[in-house]
Amino acid sequence: MIETKLRKALVDSCLELERLQINRGTSGNLSVRLDDSMLITPSGIPYDRLTPDMLASMSLATKDGSSTGPHRPSSEWRMHRDILRARPDDGAVIHTHSIYATALSMLREEIPAAHYMIAAFGGSNVRCTPYAPYGTQELSDLVVEGLRDRHGVLLGQHGMLVTGRDLGQAMWRAVELETLAKMYVIARSIGQPHILPDEEIALTVERFKSYGYQSAAVAALVATPREKAVGKSKPKKS
Ligand code: 13P
Ligand code: ZN
Repeated sequence: MIETKLRKALVDSCLELERLQINRGTSGNLSVRLDDSMLITPSGIPYDRLTPDMLASMSLATKDGSSTGPHRPSSEWRMHRDILRARPDDGAVIHTHSIYATALSMLREEIPAAHYMIAAFGGSNVRCTPYAPYGTQELSDLVVEGLRDRHGVLLGQHGMLVTGRDLGQAMWRAVELETLAKMYVIARSIGQPHILPDEEIALTVERFKSYGYQSAAVAALVATPREKAVGKSKPKKS
């Protein structure tokens, strides 16, 4: 029952990321924790073809990536496995090649505290890892380290990754990280942004503990494509 819901929520999240143009085609991958295992998107399958039964299921203890499901798991299964193992408070991982975050990763630049929303990622910056080829253990190790005390990281010459306690929170962070990257790139193109002091961000990190994505109701909104949500609502009589 829980698995059925998680499978549907994962596919809905993929479609929402595509609708928001945060991910497209076969780029990026998503996973969600299910007990001692994870459900993860299959490798190389466009999101708009994805159905819940196409997801791969994999033990978090796997060393060789063996999985069940009709397709091979994402080539980044090591990264998803290692994050979910190292971070028991996180239940979902989203990796995207969103344009602005990836543009910054191409410069190997971190995102500094030029806007208070950096606090949504746990501290005064979102780091950028060195480059490592996709799908490798080397990349996974760099990403786990880059995420230390954070919920988001840029992957050098590759993209970005966020975590959340569940899919709704990870979706919120995926949208916010790409938005933050876009605002920062635009600000940099017209001047040199002011950087907020660490104490200010520390205060905002505290305040964020009671702000932002909070409830299952919000999760449902975030994970449901708007067209579907609108389609479901009954027309109101005027
Ligand atoms: P997969 O289709 O194997 O998930 O790969 C996409 C990707 O973004 C690799 O980093
Ligand atoms: Zn990728």
